[in-house]
Amino acid sequence: LVVLENVQKHYGEFQALTDIDLTIDRGEVVVIIGPSGSGKSTLCRSINRLETITSGSIRVDGQELPAEGKKLATLRAEVGMVFQSFNLFAHLTILENVTLGPIKVRGLSKAEAEEEAMQLLTRVGVEKQASKLPAQLSGGQQQRVAIARSLAMRPKVMLFDEPTSALDPEMINEVLDVMIGLAKEGMTMIVVTHEMGFARKAADRVVFMADGRIVEEATPEEFFTHPKSDRAKDFLSKLI
Ligand code: ATP
Ligand code: MG
Repeated sequence: LVVLENVQKHYGEFQALTDIDLTIDRGEVVVIIGPSGSGKSTLCRSINRLETITSGSIRVDGQELPAEGKKLATLRAEVGMVFQSFNLFAHLTILENVTLGPIKVRGLSKAEAEEEAMQLLTRVGVEKQASKLPAQLSGGQQQRVAIARSLAMRPKVMLFDEPTSALDPEMINEVLDVMIGLAKEGMTMIVVTHEMGFARKAADRVVFMADGRIVEEATPEEFFTHPKSDRAKDFLSKLI
């Protein structure tokens, strides 16, 4: 569903991604881990076209993401993204946050969008907060709204870039549980996370990155018990 071929990304002289080849099948959950600065966020942002790659190709469902314009908005809707900071629109209610995209991009009526939004908010467990503003919600609730907002666009794939890193410990699980639910329902997901419990539970595959390269790919079972590269061994030893 998502195919990266020979992707290179430079920031000026600095090469943030080198020779990235990665294929993610429909329904697959891929967890990306690696040290700080290894290019995990750059990879996610490139898939969503928040960054322009220097060379190579990235296709989602067979289509190269266009550089700009209306087509980009439509295609970007197919690639949902949830960030560490929840990025909700502060001046809009929770319900408005979730209905905005479907009304603008999918062309739903307000009533249709609200009905769908309430279903999604119920699914992530924040339906009671629908008329509040983001600032009135806890971090965990805001992040679940951010997930609902992405899902409202009917994405083909969901990208998560450290979705729980900014959360207090007691809120991490409520967000991870929503993500585990999504994974079980067959959503294609690319997840950057330090939550190894999530990786073990939900990932079909772990991709380990270092210095802008994919160093190792394996099942969670394999990766956590028998990491092959010294970089991965070193990284895992520091986690505990
Ligand atoms: P972390 O775990 O800290 O989030 P990461 O693996 O997500 O790290 P990236 O944010 O993708 O790493 O950054 C990869 C490298 O690219 C880093 O060395 C970073 O300094 C560099 N980089 C990222 N964004 C830019 C930018 N806009 N301009 C210049 N360099 C950048
Ligand atoms: Mg990052």
